[in-house]
Amino acid sequence: MKILDGKLVREQSLPILIERIKNLSFVPCLAIIQVGNRPDSDAFIRAKKSFATKLGIKNIHIQLDEKIEQDKVLEVINKYNGDSEVIGIIVQLPLPIHLNSEIIIDAISPSKDVDGLTPLNIKRLVDGHDEAIIPATARGIRQLLKFYNIDLFGKKVTVVGRSTLVGKPIALMCLNENATVTVCHSKTQNLEEETKKADVLIVAIGKPNFIDRNHIRKGQIVIDVGISRQLDNSLTGDVNYEEIKDMVDMITPVPGGVGQMTVLAVFENLVDLCYYRNNSN
Ligand code: NAP
Repeated sequence: MKILDGKLVREQSLPILIERIKNLSFVPCLAIIQVGNRPDSDAFIRAKKSFATKLGIKNIHIQLDEKIEQDKVLEVINKYNGDSEVIGIIVQLPLPIHLNSEIIIDAISPSKDVDGLTPLNIKRLVDGHDEAIIPATARGIRQLLKFYNIDLFGKKVTVVGRSTLVGKPIALMCLNENATVTVCHSKTQNLEEETKKADVLIVAIGKPNFIDRNHIRKGQIVIDVGISRQLDNSLTGDVNYEEIKDMVDMITPVPGGVGQMTVLAVFENLVDLCYYRNNSN
């Protein structure tokens, strides 16, 4: 069994990203907008800010009150849409339930949409457009697979999870890589049958250790996207790593797998936006 080591791939990918940043005529700036202070969002934002610092990228963290009205959030987004110094905007999800995430995400200028979630970017992803900004988790998984020379061309991929942020973009990315893709969700019948038929199984459901021996066939490649924090503060994936590690061919650990790649991909997206902006000027 081989471990697909996100930490290693991220470290090895850094020099190329740093070189691309050095070649820019300006220092990129990322605006991260957070509403409230969920501990999981705090942790994701901390990781992004610390990686931005490592790359020499400026970042602005805007912390808004949990109870803020929707119009006020839209005002903040519009402010940064119009700020020529800010290259990319992230609205940290999930938002409190009184806010309409769809309207808020759609307010981000597509040319600053680092997470690739605005309608124009989603359409580009669906179309397999060269300038699609691929949501970071999907992009990170693509980069991890490429590093280990895992070509999805013609492979059977099963994605478990169909969220707009994670599962669906991953499925579209795999389709664009010419895989034959099955997408499973909470209403899927005979999940074990669907997971076993995959050459590459990608799991993003948010249920710790849910995928066990019963879902796996020998020789598969398993990508575990899930991250759940346990009471002892440790992180657990959606896949029961200890139980299946001897059956699979390759597997991502949690932590140290997809999460590492996702943070890298956020900044790959930001730097792409810098180059698209340069090209359009
Ligand atoms: P989400 O919005 O809650 O979506 C979960 C998806 O899983 C839904 O599509 C749901 O199906 C499906 N699901 C739930 N229980 C299932 C079951 N028993 N069988 C089959 N499908 C089931 O979660 P998310 O935002 O996509 O995140 C998923 C996980 O990825 C979380 O652990 C999150 O922390 C993690 N994550 C990791 C990274 C990273 O960088 N590694 C990045 C983002 C998120 P329905 O649609 O039918 O409800």
